[in-house]
Amino acid sequence: TFSDDHQLVLDLIEDIPDFPKPGVVFKDITPLLASPKGLRAAINALVALAPPDIDVVVGMEARGFILAAPVALELGAGFVPVRKPGKLPGELYSEQFSLEYGHETLTVKTDAVLPGARVLVIDDVLATGGTVGATAALVHRLGADLVHVAVLMELGFLPGREKLAELGIHNYSAVV
Ligand code: AMP
Repeated sequence: TFSDDHQLVLDLIEDIPDFPKPGVVFKDITPLLASPKGLRAAINALVALAPPDIDVVVGMEARGFILAAPVALELGAGFVPVRKPGKLPGELYSEQFSLEYGHETLTVKTDAVLPGARVLVIDDVLATGGTVGATAALVHRLGADLVHVAVLMELGFLPGREKLAELGIHNYSAVV
């Protein structure tokens, strides 16, 4: 019972086996982004998941940026980047999280969002939930209100959604 927008998003995300390493099926959103109708469908579908009165849309480096900025424009909200270390100037909050091998760190400027701001977090793919979890922690440290997390696609065979629930993130939805 997918809408046309949802079906187009699903059809234009390509499965790339064994990328970036053996055993991983990479969800490649570049065909979706390259399609005028696909890009419009993706942004519309994400906007449709947004609760009212969003002040700021937070996107994670790098593919989250591509989706979060146009969603922010559509919502009349601002855009805030969450980035890997060494990219943002000034005073930062940082959050470390575990990957399959080793750790990853994400950062945000300490003055990026006003306390109490209503924040929507957007990324392309939810896998283990580590990226969203760290971003949610950053939003929390900013004193902002994480009202929703929306992704284009979730990998159903990974416990990402359960991980978010464990972290107390219940306002979560995926387009496909
Ligand atoms: P995770 O932190 O495990 O939920 O991974 C989510 C982040 O890694 C997102 O920013 C995705 O862009 C990227 N990612 C993880 N797994 C995949 C995959 N199979 N295909 C595409 N992107 C992925």
